[in-house]
Amino acid sequence: MTKTEAEVGLVDYPTSLSPSRASDFMTCPLLFRFRSIDRLPQDPSPAALRGTMVHRALELLFDLPPEARTLGAANALLEQTWVELSAADPQSAAVLQAELSLKPEAPAAEVAAAVIAPAAIYLDTYFALENPQRLEPHEREFGVAVEIADNFTIRGFIDRVDRTPAGDIRIVDYKTGRAPTAKYQDKAMFQMRFYALAWWRLTGVVPKMLQLIYLGSNNMIRYEPSQSDLEATEAKILALRLAINESANSGIFAPTTSKLCDWCSFRALCPAWGGTPPALPPVSLWIAPPIPDGLAT
Ligand code: SF4
Repeated sequence: MTKTEAEVGLVDYPTSLSPSRASDFMTCPLLFRFRSIDRLPQDPSPAALRGTMVHRALELLFDLPPEARTLGAANALLEQTWVELSAADPQSAAVLQAELSLKPEAPAAEVAAAVIAPAAIYLDTYFALENPQRLEPHEREFGVAVEIADNFTIRGFIDRVDRTPAGDIRIVDYKTGRAPTAKYQDKAMFQMRFYALAWWRLTGVVPKMLQLIYLGSNNMIRYEPSQSDLEATEAKILALRLAINESANSGIFAPTTSKLCDWCSFRALCPAWGGTPPALPPVSLWIAPPIPDGLAT
């Protein structure tokens, strides 16, 4: 039987949820625990770092006047993101360099060109899918946090929000991976419904369109949500909160094996693969991280 709000257990956890953490729990509760409760460090992957650079370049692209939003300008911004990353996070920059077997003493310009080349392919694809000179985003990298139940907030960062002159809202997310097959598209769209729910609760407007742009496979997935879709998403998130709460109160975060185990950073600690998880940290350390500055509430 589904628990009601009043039945959330003694440990008031979680107090917030993002689409990524919700997806972690749905994929594997133990993965959720390792990331959200133990907060175990994870080595950044080259693919994720390239994704971050591409997202940043596309965000900055819209700072330029429309006529200046060319592929050449986007590539220059990508180079700028590499310079920023190298200065702010040398460890992550080293991960990208190591992937390419670049010698530490290689000239900076040579390193930049080599690191940027695989990421620049995503920008080529972006320009094949959209013309940024004809877009004027309403929001970019929009941080949102909305309380949808007592002491429970949904939060996240939306890559882009477009608004037509008539006020229609389109929520856009860039992916540097490949589009999922039809069987998994609904799962991929969960993140977008999550954002649409947050937007609706924040502004009172149900977005007209949700759009996933797959830069790894040169296509898009679109969906027009209805209010009842978003109500169903809210019910699903609240049910998820209760399921996480049950795990938190029982201390049981069951491993769920799947193909994703092959890429899981925590496999050595996973009992499904012969490992032993660390003891659960004290509950006082589980508290959700503070909402970063700049989030719309
Ligand atoms: S290895 Fe698989 S089952 Fe274990 S925590 Fe990771 S995703 Fe879950």
